Order: sequence, then C-alpha cells, then structure tokens
Amino acid sequence: MIEVEDLLFTYESDGFTLRVPDLAVEDGAKVAFIGPSGSGKTTLFHLLAGILVPHSGRISVAGREVSGLPDAERRRFRIGTIGMIFQDFELLDHLTVRENILLPYYVNRALTLDGGVHERVEELARALGIGSYLRRRPAALSHGERQRAAICRALVTEPALVLADEPTGNLDPRNTDVILDLVFRLVEKRGTTFLMVTHDHSLLDRFDRTIDFMDFLPEAER
Ligand code: ADP
Ligand code: MG
Repeated sequence: MIEVEDLLFTYESDGFTLRVPDLAVEDGAKVAFIGPSGSGKTTLFHLLAGILVPHSGRISVAGREVSGLPDAERRRFRIGTIGMIFQDFELLDHLTVRENILLPYYVNRALTLDGGVHERVEELARALGIGSYLRRRPAALSHGERQRAAICRALVTEPALVLADEPTGNLDPRNTDVILDLVFRLVEKRGTTFLMVTHDHSLLDRFDRTIDFMDFLPEAER
C-alpha cells in the first residue's frame, strides 16, 4: 500500500528535517506510529496524504507515486484514496455533523453523492454512537462525539488507506477501547490499511506492527 524511499523533507521556516530512508506498509496492515512529540509523525502523515510534498525521494501510495502528481491531481487522489483523521479533527463549525461527514463529496466532484452514500452515513454514525446527532453542529457535541464524527468522515468514502493522527489522544481508556474496537471492525471488514499515531503504548499489541520515529532521528538526537 505504501512505499517510501529516501524521503527528505524540510520546513523552510524552522529547518526541521524529516528523513525516512525506507518504509513499506503492506495492503490491509494495521500499523502504529510512536515517537516523541516533534519527531515528525504528523509531517509524515501529511506527506503520505500529499498535503505536503517532499524535497526529494519517492512516496508511493496504492500504486501511485503521490510525490510526482500535479497539485490538483494529488488532491483528487487524496480525497478518493485516503481517509484522514486529523489530530484536531478539523470539523467545520458552520456545517452540521452530517454535512461535515459528507464534506469529501462536496469538495471532490469525482465522488458521487448518491443514496448509497447517505445510507452509509447513517450506518457509520449509528455504529459510532452519534446516529441521533447528525443535524447538530460540532459545537453541540462533546469532544468524544466530535472525534467520532471525524472518524465517520474519514471512513465514508471507503478509502483504501486511513491515516489517524492521535485520534484517541484526549479520550479516557474506556472510550479509547470502544472507539478503537469500532474502527478496527470497520477497517477489517473492508481490508483497509490503517496507520495510527499514538502515545499510548498499551494499544500497540492490537496492531500488526509498530514504527518508532526514534529510528528516523539523527543519532545525536535519539
Ligand atoms: P509530531 O507530530 O511528531 O509531534 P510534527 O510533524 O507536528 O511532529 O512536527 C515536527 C517538527 O516540525 C516540529 O519541530 C514542528 O515544530 C515542526 N513543524 C510542524 N509543522 C510545521 C509547519 N507548518 N511549519 C514549520 N514547522 C513545522
Ligand atoms: Mg503530531
């Protein structure tokens, strides 16, 4: 699903540099990403999603070389292939929960918003326990409920790859388990590849493997 080779990326403004010499993730794998704050986990997810472009190296996702696509095509590819659960959810306050979940269909005309999609929104929202909140705005939801809405939005397009950036960061252990069980069930059903950043080492057993960002840091900084 993912192949990264000799990836090099630098933020010009502060000089932070991420180097990933080699990373491969098989189709359908569930992989946890750990590492200290500021080690570049979010940056790597944004590179995989084509939100950021590497300075050199190669990133291929689902057989497409993302790093080589022109802007508009990269965006289309992202919305069609990848579901993102952002660290801060990025729900739009002026839209209802339902509209937030449907957002990928509003911004990408290549995706068709038909009756099947509307049914899927209902099903996902019900499965994640927010079925009766679809007409509310995000401000009227609890933190955990907003998170579930963000998860619904990431899954509604039935993407081949889901990137989840600390999705359970602010949840208590019981809610974390419930949410993770639901997400795992949904991704396993479809053979979705699932990458998740977490600081919670008690969750690592549930993944096929763990990638530690310490391994990408220069030796002097480890
Ligand atoms: P992590 O997710 O592992 O905590 P990030 O990928 O968010 O780490 O950040 C890695 C480093 O890059 C940090 O030092 C951070 O300050 C810097 N950084 C993150 N985003 C930006 C940005 N948009 N512009 C400049 N520097 C950034
Ligand atoms: Mg981060």
